[in-house]
Amino acid sequence: MKKLAVFKKNVNGIKLWGAELSENKHSEIAPIPDTVTLLMSEDVSPVVKIGEKVSVGQKIGEPIDPKKEIPVYSSVSGEISEISEKSDDNGKTLYIKILCDKRQTLCEKFEEPKITSKESLVSALKTSGIISKDYGKPLYLKIKRFTEKKPEYLIINAADFEPYITVNDRECIENAENIAFGIRILKKWLKPQRTCISITKKQKEAINSLVENIGMSTQIRMVSDNYPNGNEKIIIYLITGETIEIKHNNRFLVLDIFTVSAIGKYLRTGRPITDTMITVSGPAIKNPCNLVVPLGISFADAINSCGGFRFSPCAVVSGSIMTGKNEDNLEFTYVDQALKGIIAIDKLEKNDVEYDCIRCGRCVSTCPMKLIPPEIEKALAKENTIKLKSLHPEMCIECGCCEYICPAKRKLLSVCQNAKFEVVGKRFKSGGKN
Ligand code: SF4
Ligand code: SF4
Repeated sequence: MKKLAVFKKNVNGIKLWGAELSENKHSEIAPIPDTVTLLMSEDVSPVVKIGEKVSVGQKIGEPIDPKKEIPVYSSVSGEISEISEKSDDNGKTLYIKILCDKRQTLCEKFEEPKITSKESLVSALKTSGIISKDYGKPLYLKIKRFTEKKPEYLIINAADFEPYITVNDRECIENAENIAFGIRILKKWLKPQRTCISITKKQKEAINSLVENIGMSTQIRMVSDNYPNGNEKIIIYLITGETIEIKHNNRFLVLDIFTVSAIGKYLRTGRPITDTMITVSGPAIKNPCNLVVPLGISFADAINSCGGFRFSPCAVVSGSIMTGKNEDNLEFTYVDQALKGIIAIDKLEKNDVEYDCIRCGRCVSTCPMKLIPPEIEKALAKENTIKLKSLHPEMCIECGCCEYICPAKRKLLSVCQNAKFEVVGKRFKSGGKN
């Protein structure tokens, strides 16, 4: 296994902010909107027709290739009003729009799946429709890697390491029974040598809730509340002291606590996952909170459920404000399971004007991977491949700390992404290993 450059046990990064807007509030349930729109990849085919009545948890999309995808379920009861297809850079996406009847009728009596082996666990997770919040892909793909070989460590991250986001903390406080059930099943069938939960010192209520429900059989480890400590490479280092190349990682299974809770919820009830919790926050949101929403609700409806805007925001960002995307069309952007938050920011947190590098070194001292972004930028601009390779941009975890901290507002994140692509792409072409 390739070792990465040396981390110090306390990695660099930036101090988190914004959690105080939503962290001590009980989650709120969003009113059912007039419509939801569920998106499917081109590998999923619809099994419903326009005009058909559907109920909550009913299958509406079936994978064409079950090895690649998972089923899609309706998050509301109502009527299918539109099925359309759109092509973009990521391929074809199918949209299924449902007019909600607001009764939330359940589709059938769900039965809890019988888990009798690792294989049956993987198969149940495939049916569950769970997309991992930290991984953004079907969860079963991550678990499947460990059916032949036991993980050395199961690491469950219970902290929130993105500015403003507080969903993991809330899940520990409000749904620890599901978490405890999920951990029990994962330990029983995957048999990790060690299991531990990473959490920050300030999450006192969450720690109490976890201890009460899980007992002392799973170790709880404190980590500092810096961004990007939630990154898989970094959390593995903080917990085990090991630096690893994730691509070759078949020793550590890292999951976020929200995903473990979803596993517990599904395995206890057999009801597919049709809703999720997101943090809707930022200076421009009237009532920042953790909101439980049906999948497929539009960003506009989710924001309205929190009282709308206090003032016109400078930008609305999906996911993380460090690496997330600015969303311009809130009516036509929809919540999926991988989404952690919708953050509406004001002018102070965004500045598009780029100035010359003043060689202050702040980006270097902030980078958790000890890279030198301005040197990477220079080597990339000069197309100096030898120099670029020596700077190891392939180790960049794309956290965006360098860009955030830069007083000259250099676009260092996209620079490092491009440099990484250059180096990794060329290695693959020449047949080398990463
Ligand atoms: S984006 Fe990459 S280069 Fe920038 S701080 Fe993060 S790891 Fe370092
Ligand atoms: S933080 Fe910005 S200005 Fe400072 S050295 Fe890095 S790129 Fe240059």
